[in-house]
Amino acid sequence: EDIQLGDFLQTIFDKAYPVFSNSGIELKLYRKQECYANIDPLRLEQVVLNVLDNALKYSDGGTTTIELSKKDNNCKLTISDQGKGIPDDQIPYIFDRLYRVEKSRSRLTGGVGLGLSIVKEIVDAHGGELKICSEIGVGTSVSILLKEVSIGETNFIGR
Ligand code: ATP
Ligand code: MG
Repeated sequence: EDIQLGDFLQTIFDKAYPVFSNSGIELKLYRKQECYANIDPLRLEQVVLNVLDNALKYSDGGTTTIELSKKDNNCKLTISDQGKGIPDDQIPYIFDRLYRVEKSRSRLTGGVGLGLSIVKEIVDAHGGELKICSEIGVGTSVSILLKEVSIGETNFIGR
């Protein structure tokens, strides 16, 4: 299904905003460039929610931003938080099932370590690409690249 990602993200943002607000985190959405992609909206919503859930759990205030832009022939969806960050040497493992960075984190924040493994599965199933950048004490940024579908003028002939 060809979905306009800006509107898609806006709907998720509207639902998530009060939840972040209640935790003292400012949630922002930047629709820098509009972009269409062929996605399963229910599954991609799960992806965004899992990443947002981490931003919420592993941040103590600050701002979380959702950004939509284009990169080459892809739609680029980036979720950045100002949370505690992930140690460099752990990043290769965080997409593994049941992997969690520290035991102490699990006691404080709950969760079983499935969120990002589901994210990876769904992004892979869409033929997309997943990138993560993180710095301890600064924050984490997760980017999802999905092939852009161009909604050309010809699609509107006869309207
Ligand atoms: P679940 O998602 O199943 O509730 P979880 O959040 O622990 O549990 P994942 O979402 O798969 O599991 O994340 C794996 C680990 O990566 C987390 O335990 C956490 O240590 C680390 N992590 C993930 N996202 C972030 C983030 N935004 N900031 C800091 N650490 C993160
Ligand atoms: Mg999680």
